[in-house]
Amino acid sequence: MIRSAMPNRHLIANWKMNLPPEGVGPYMEAIHRAASARVSIAVAPPFPYLKETAGKGGDLIIAGQNCADHESGAFTGEVSPGMLRACGARAVIVGHSERRSLYGESDAVVARKLSAAVAAGLTPVLCIGEDLRTRDAGHVSRFLADQIKAAATSGLEAAKEIVLAYEPVWAIGTGRNASGAMLAETVGQIRESLERFWPVNHAKSTAILYGGSVTPENTADLVAHGAIDGFLVGGASLDSGKLLAILAAMGRD
Ligand code: PEP
Repeated sequence: MIRSAMPNRHLIANWKMNLPPEGVGPYMEAIHRAASARVSIAVAPPFPYLKETAGKGGDLIIAGQNCADHESGAFTGEVSPGMLRACGARAVIVGHSERRSLYGESDAVVARKLSAAVAAGLTPVLCIGEDLRTRDAGHVSRFLADQIKAAATSGLEAAKEIVLAYEPVWAIGTGRNASGAMLAETVGQIRESLERFWPVNHAKSTAILYGGSVTPENTADLVAHGAIDGFLVGGASLDSGKLLAILAAMGRD
């Protein structure tokens, strides 16, 4: 998602399966000039809106919410990374917890999607995150390390950029968010795992975002510890005003 101005923070709006067709134009009009030299903004709409959002995106990056783990073939209902690119996408979310839990995507499937996205020249936004049982049992670090290790497949080093979104499952769409202090600790553990398992050219440069019930009200606390490089936002991102308020609370310039 990197632009020539090299923004060091990212904000991704994941619409999931939301917004009526008539809502797309006004939303894009409201935010299409919002990206700055420091914060890149990506919008991940449902597939049928990709071309329209890309056409109205201005400085924004358009991202797929998912992609196939193959480039073409007999895979009814799937959309390949190359097709996303052809529709104007430059990034794709891979391994979102809803894909993992509702559609049974295993670590192996996620790793293949990651490779396919990189091969097609898309910036992958890899989602990882533990459920509440894992956190309560004190196994967060090991769990995330396993997810990172499983995703570190061949071809990853060829990526121009990889973005990682730490999205604890217990925080997604629940109204319960991580604290800034919790993020500082967990992101430290993620960095250690990246150094251990990720290709050397990405271990340090991979941006780490947080996702999970981010709102304009909790953004300041979440960025206060300086551990994260931005946000992946679901529910609050459906309101362009809230997305812009989160951007403002990130400290734009
Ligand atoms: C998400 O969809 O990745 C997400 C973090 O959703 P929400 O902000 O609604 O928790």
